[in-house]
Amino acid sequence: MQEKNVAIVTGSARGIGRAIANKLATKGIHVALGDIDPAVVEVGKQISEQTGSKLEGFVVDVKDYNSCSNFYRNVLSAMECDHVDILVNNAGINRDALFVNMTEQQWDEVIKVDLYSVFNCTKQVVPGMIKVNHGRIVNVSSMSWLGNVGQANYSAAKAGVIGFTKTLSKELARYNITVNAVCPGFIDTPMTRAVPENIRQKFLDRIPMRRIGLPEDVANFVSLLVSEEASYVTGEVINISGGMTI
Ligand code: NAP
Repeated sequence: MQEKNVAIVTGSARGIGRAIANKLATKGIHVALGDIDPAVVEVGKQISEQTGSKLEGFVVDVKDYNSCSNFYRNVLSAMECDHVDILVNNAGINRDALFVNMTEQQWDEVIKVDLYSVFNCTKQVVPGMIKVNHGRIVNVSSMSWLGNVGQANYSAAKAGVIGFTKTLSKELARYNITVNAVCPGFIDTPMTRAVPENIRQKFLDRIPMRRIGLPEDVANFVSLLVSEEASYVTGEVINISGGMTI
């Protein structure tokens, strides 16, 4: 293995991705943050100053394969490494609507950002991981994969992520590459802050722990999954939801 572990975290300019990047940095891991929002560059600098770890933010559109290839090349060059050890496929969006009202654009956008992205980014890192016979991939799905009114697009994409996770875990286990998925419940991020207050309250009523999750709740578990302690865990789908079931 190279001297320091290097991780890529997508969708890390804010929310859950940013918390994951921050948590990995506190463990001394070098982190490449990728996001469509150019603010990611500043976020990388800030976390780097706070933790002393090497972090760098890159603009990438994860729904675009070529953008992901360029991103990966730039990461290897900036981090002075020949592979990355950890990939967290976190970037995602929602465009909710009842199916009868859902437009082709809403369908397309969500499938591309939430599902194509996982193929696009994973495709970059796997050859390098195979070469060193080691790797950690965590895909951020959602409990909505089980079905949620108004989210036919999002549920389909997130269910696809789970199928992808299960298959890849079987294909890559022989190279000591683990592939797992996490399903956050209702987490306090800009994505969920857009949800009307009455719906937020309804979610809260369904959470046995009686609190909305924090991005750090997800980050802490992802950090465990990418550690050596989790080296025999692969193909799993773990809810991080304070006990909520959908
Ligand atoms: P968030 O606050 O909206 O952050 C997502 C980040 O991804 C944003 O910075 C966003 O940039 C970026 N992004 C969007 N499209 C992108 C693209 N094409 N390429 C690169 N980056 C892109 O979301 P979050 O709540 O932290 O969610 C993170 C992940 O957790 C998502 O996969 C989401 O589906 C999943 N999740 C969240 C919850 C929850 O309760 N929050 C629950 C279950 C699952 P812009 O701001 O410019 O769009």
